[in-house]
Amino acid sequence: MHSKSILVIEDEPSIAEVVSLYLRRAGYQVQTLGDGQAALEALERHIPDLVVMDLMLPGLDGYSLTRWLRDRSQVPIIMLTSRREEMDRIAGLEMGADDYVVKPFSPQELVSRVRAVLRRAGGDKNPEGEAPLQVGALSIDPLSRSVTLRGAGIDLTAKEFDMLSLFLRHPRQVFSRDQLLERVWGSSEYIDPGTVTVHVRRLREKIETDPANPLMLITVWGVGYKFEPGQSA
Ligand code: CA
Repeated sequence: MHSKSILVIEDEPSIAEVVSLYLRRAGYQVQTLGDGQAALEALERHIPDLVVMDLMLPGLDGYSLTRWLRDRSQVPIIMLTSRREEMDRIAGLEMGADDYVVKPFSPQELVSRVRAVLRRAGGDKNPEGEAPLQVGALSIDPLSRSVTLRGAGIDLTAKEFDMLSLFLRHPRQVFSRDQLLERVWGSSEYIDPGTVTVHVRRLREKIETDPANPLMLITVWGVGYKFEPGQSA
């Protein structure tokens, strides 16, 4: 198996250097760019297996890059944000990033998040199974990672897909936010549970007729979320 390629977009040289060192040591092919516009040009030529990007970049910021990427690709994106940018990272997730790491972070933490995101993004093993599945109005095909709703294709990010496929494989089972972090993100250790809330909201916007009054992806107050297949036809 060839080693996975990662593009690191970060304008602080010391961070870019330590991140690429650790990722290389973990066996990935790493390219580092410090300018958003240069990153855009590189991505136009080639989409890597994963993108790690800083939010605040010269040339073109992380939001614009994420929006541009999401129009073209489901490549997993991990954002690097600073602690005071709470609103920014929620906005980043809503724009389609899969995960974020708050600065200052340990390089080892970033490596384990990269591993988890890549593992869940397919390519490797899919622990939730590989058989296509139809539940109510929704069909998913884990091999092509495609989803249709009433016969029409819908675009999901890697994490949205993983979360939806977990729910579809366990209809009516309630998952807590920690359980969802474990099963979808690979660990609940470093991840803000608010990440789950944002992804549930995004999924609802894509699959529910009225996202404010969901019939499929139901909140179980004080516990978590469940998928209601009877309501999905
Ligand atoms: Ca920066």
